[in-house]
Amino acid sequence: MSMIYLDHNATTPVAPEVLEAMLPYFAERFHNPSAPYPPAEQSADAVRAARSSVARLVGADPRQITFTSGGSESITTALHSALRTTGRRRILISAVEHSAARRSAVSLGEVTTIGVDAEGAVDRATLFEELDGEVAAVSLMLANNETGVLTDIRGIGAACREVGAIFHLDAVQGPGKLPLDLAATGAHLASLSAHKLHGPKGCGALWIAEDAPFVPLVHGGPQESERRAGTENVPGVVGFGRAAELARAYVEDEAALARTAALRDRLESGLLERLGEGRVHGGGSPRLGNTTNVHFPGRDARTLLLLLAERGVLASAGSACNAQRSAPSPVLLAMGSDPEEAASSLRFSLGRHTTSEEIDTTLEAISEVLATLDALG
Ligand code: PLP
Repeated sequence: MSMIYLDHNATTPVAPEVLEAMLPYFAERFHNPSAPYPPAEQSADAVRAARSSVARLVGADPRQITFTSGGSESITTALHSALRTTGRRRILISAVEHSAARRSAVSLGEVTTIGVDAEGAVDRATLFEELDGEVAAVSLMLANNETGVLTDIRGIGAACREVGAIFHLDAVQGPGKLPLDLAATGAHLASLSAHKLHGPKGCGALWIAEDAPFVPLVHGGPQESERRAGTENVPGVVGFGRAAELARAYVEDEAALARTAALRDRLESGLLERLGEGRVHGGGSPRLGNTTNVHFPGRDARTLLLLLAERGVLASAGSACNAQRSAPSPVLLAMGSDPEEAASSLRFSLGRHTTSEEIDTTLEAISEVLATLDALG
């Protein structure tokens, strides 16, 4: 059975072009980019080219891109650096941050959590009130992985600069889903991850603005301009670079983005029609065009997911990082859902190759699953 994959916010398949670009760097071009002989220059050139491609995707200068092992490492590096460079310990995060930000903030500093409203919008008034000269960092996500809700980050970078705090943007869910110009966000630091945009897992980047003070987390050799030690993951970095080029072509194609959003809208309205009484979490906020998170009243999300998977449809109930624990989504709880509602909500996240036929088949599968559950009473 061929599967319909609607969990692109969890991860994406490596694009064929990306795999093809990566393959030579596992074996015949295996050399250490720092080695002193000519073949190593090929590896160093490939890393340089990838850095430029990733920079272009986010409107950055290549010198501002530091490769890491993924979004989680970038986030931890950013927060660690903010605490070290400011000499302060307070970190402001929103109540809907990914566990990567939430847990590294808790482990590194003293966290103040800023609430969100029922549509997932961060309480900006409280955030600005809390932002004082004791704050080391404000860490907010660009787009929520569970609901797709976009954070209103206007003015936060400037407010951080006024009090000497660092503004870190968890941009992991942005690139490849919307056009992004990091310099325009006002952030000091921003985290990126390759596997969310058809690149390989275990590779990411930290964008460091020109005016951002920075200290590394990983110490050792002088790689990455002494910002992140360790022999470069050359195949991963090459794959990230190629994935960034493909992602850029997609996000610069307004018609392609609109096509994905229209498919999402059709899925969403088809789901609501079949449910009669469901609702979309964060549906009233500006959102990523590929994501919908729908409440299925009275139905258990895990059962729904299993029945959908039996029919060849893969979706999720919130963050993949939370899926092993059967706890209800902290994101939906923060948005005011009760645990029952949070445990009966599904996320569908489309990819740039999702087809209209796949949405039709998904809606048919949903109808079957709902009928099965209704028959069981
Ligand atoms: N931040 C967000 C918003 C994410 O969705 C994820 C991945 O699920 C991460 C951070 C962590 O990224 P990585 O899996 O590359 O460590």
